[in-house]
Parts: sequence; structure tokens; C-alpha cells
Amino acid sequence: MFDNLSERLERSFKILKGEGKITEINVAETLKDVRKALLDADVNYKVAKTFTDTVKEKAMGQNVLTAVKPSQLMVKIVHDELTQLMGGETVDVNLKGAPAVILMSGLQGSGKTTFSGKLAKMLKSKRGKNPMLVACDVYRPAAIEQLRVLGEQIGVPVYSEIDSKDPVKIAQNAIKEAKSKGHDLVIVDTAGRLAIDELMMNEIAAIKDAINPEEILFVVDSMTGQDAVNTAKEFNDRLDFNGVVLTKLDGDTRGGAALSIRSVVNKPIKFVGTGEKMEAIDQFHPSRMADRILGMGDIVSLVERAQEQYDEEEAKRLQKRISKNQFDFNDFLSQIAQIKKMGNLKDLASMIPGVGKAIKDIDIDDNAFKSIEAIIYSMTPQERSNPEVINGSRRARIAKGSGTNIQEVNRLMKQFDQTRKMMKMVTSSKMGKMMPKMKR
Ligand code: GDP
Repeated sequence: MFDNLSERLERSFKILKGEGKITEINVAETLKDVRKALLDADVNYKVAKTFTDTVKEKAMGQNVLTAVKPSQLMVKIVHDELTQLMGGETVDVNLKGAPAVILMSGLQGSGKTTFSGKLAKMLKSKRGKNPMLVACDVYRPAAIEQLRVLGEQIGVPVYSEIDSKDPVKIAQNAIKEAKSKGHDLVIVDTAGRLAIDELMMNEIAAIKDAINPEEILFVVDSMTGQDAVNTAKEFNDRLDFNGVVLTKLDGDTRGGAALSIRSVVNKPIKFVGTGEKMEAIDQFHPSRMADRILGMGDIVSLVERAQEQYDEEEAKRLQKRISKNQFDFNDFLSQIAQIKKMGNLKDLASMIPGVGKAIKDIDIDDNAFKSIEAIIYSMTPQERSNPEVINGSRRARIAKGSGTNIQEVNRLMKQFDQTRKMMKMVTSSKMGKMMPKMKR
């Protein structure tokens, strides 16, 4: 995401590269490019204009610092302004209330149901909540089923009333049920339509009045660009929501919505969705998003995500095994599982500064581990725990069993040997404490 915008901004700063200081003339030129880049990224016209005006004012007001090059200073100013544009501070969801009720709103297909599941999972695992999901779409039975399946997948109960045609009643009953069962969080998924219509607005407004939620989140597909901003405006006029969820930021979005929504509706973006999986949710941090737009990478998020998945017990156990040279294919499998838990490989890699651009056009296959896993699963338990016994004929059998070939098995054996050696080196130099999960 934002690849184009990042590149364009980087290019516009180049104008200042050879310059000794910021002048009215060279700033004007740079900002013309910045504004064009923003407009091409589908940022609202007025927002882009105000943005560049503010940047200009700040740039001209700067004292000439010999230690900082004009281009660097400009990057800093633009970064800070982008952060401001997206709201400045990170804003959390309101979870007070017994139970806290979160009402989801948005058009059909925006990703509401998927996001409801993601949010329930995140608040359950990270904040120790005991959530209940509520299916209030009385028009599409498939929507209820979708939420039910997601709930099962993440281990969260889903309240629904198959025969009811009254979403307000369903929501009220759900909250009663949540109270009686001791849930401290209720997430209400509502019906959406393909375009805004009066009926939908009336319905969700009636649900709002009836259940008085702590938090109304408006979910919007970031791929819809300017439309996202317009839809946000209409929902906000009607519902006065508390926060925005931008979904599908993993796609080929030009990012304009992320940059315009906050200043148009004056409501914070609270979360982003970055994929179809239940883990593909992030809290929205304006400053980090600005880092990302400017192509500085988002090492902070990467480390955070790595830490989240970091299983201390497992790390200690592995470390012990590595130091005793006992690391085997069972451990290798558990490492793969850890890496997979961290999410989409390309997403992960693109968060490392400098890497994003380099791998932009490379196809990283999320199934990269499939054949490796197949090979390991085709080994006998003895082979997995004593890789030394795997000779030529065993390799041939494993290749056949896993539907791969002998070269692939040989490659894996070699990789495994190297990993083992490297791990031993790494742990003996204490580095392993920091990153034992990142080795392949
Ligand atoms: P709803 O009609 O608003 O409830 O939308 P859904 O939750 O059913 O989502 C519509 C489609 O978008 C589904 O195919 C989802 O898998 C997909 N989707 C939802 N969130 C994301 C996201 O963050 N990234 C991507 N790539 N797809 C998403």
C-alpha cells in the first residue's frame, strides 16, 4: 500500500537535494509535486491544499540549520504534518461499560463482519475481554452464517435469532443474554447495503437509540478512495460515530481515504484491516503510518508483532535444545508455525525499511512452507528427532511420501543443517534472546 505515493513524495524531496537552503522558490516547486502526489493518491482536493499550505508555512518559518539539509528538513516537516493530518494521536476504543457495547456500521462488502471477528479476537487475546458477537443482519441469512463461522474459528459465541425480522429486538436481547452470561464486551454486526439508503440509516439509528453503545465504529473499504470519504460523511451526519475502521489496506489502495477521512469527518481512524485472516488487524497509529507513507518502513510495528507472537516458554525450551545441540525437525516445524502466525510474509518483509520497495514486484508465496512441512510430516518420529539417521534411501522415501523430489529433500536437509549451526552461533552470542523466532 501507498507504494506510489511514497515514491512520488520521495521524488519531490529530491528537488531540494542539491539546495543549500529552503527558499520560497524551491519550496514552491517541491510542494507543487507533493500536492500532485497527494491528489493522485486520491486525497481530497481541499485536504491536499491545506496540507501543502501548512507545510509551506512551517518550512519558511524554519531557522536555517546548517546541520540539517533542506531535503531532510522537508521530510521531517511533511512527516509531522502527515501525522497531524491523520489525527496525531492514537485513539483507543472505549471499553468501559458492563458490558461495553460496540456497534458496527458501514456498507455491505466494506468488511464489517470480518472486522467484527478480528476485533473480538484481538480484544479477547490482548485485553483479556470475554466478548460476544451479535448478528443483526435480518436480510441475508448468509451474513449470520458468516459471523457464526468466524465466531467458531476464534472461539467467541455468536448471538443470532434466525426467525426474527427485528434487528433492534435482536440487539436488545443479545445484550440481556450477554449480561446473564457474564460477557464484558458485545460487538454488534449490522446489515449493510450496497449504497446508502434511508432504510438502512433508520435501522441502524434505531439500534443505536435502543442499545446506547459505548462505541460506534464505521467500517469502510479503503479501496473506494473518495467514495470512502463521502460515505463516512453521510454515516457520521446520521450516527455521529466514534471512530473509523479502514479495511483492505493490504490491497492496491492509493491511500487517499486514510489521509482524508480524519480531516473531513473529524473522527479518528482507530483500526485498519490488512487482510482476510483474523489476525490481519492493527491499531491505527498516525505517526507510524506517516513513517510508512514516507517509505521509512515501520520497524516499530514489525517488532511489536514479533513480540506479540513471541512465546516465552517455547523460546526458553528451544534455546535449551539449541545449546545442547538437540534442535530437531520437530522444533523446525514449531518455528515454521510461529512464523506463519505472524501473518502474510510479504507484509512482514515490507515493513523492514528499504525492503518494501525492493520486493514490491516479487511474488512471495505464503505457501512457501507447504512443501517443507510436507517433507517433515513424511519423516518418521525417529527421523524427526534424529535427523542424522536420514540417509540416501530414507531421503528417497521421504521425497515420495511428501510428493516432492529428492532435490527438495536434500535442500531442506542442508538448510536445516545450516540453521542448526547458525542457531548455535547466535545463541552462544546471546543474540538468540532477541530473535530466536526469525530464523528460517
Ligand atoms: P460486510 O458485508 O461489510 O460484512 O463485509 P465482509 O466482512 O463480508 O467482507 C467482504 C469481503 O472483503 C470478504 O471477502 C472479506 O474476506 C474481504 N475483506 C474484509 N476485510 C479485508 C481486508 O482487510 N483485506 C482484504 N484483502 N480483504 C478483506
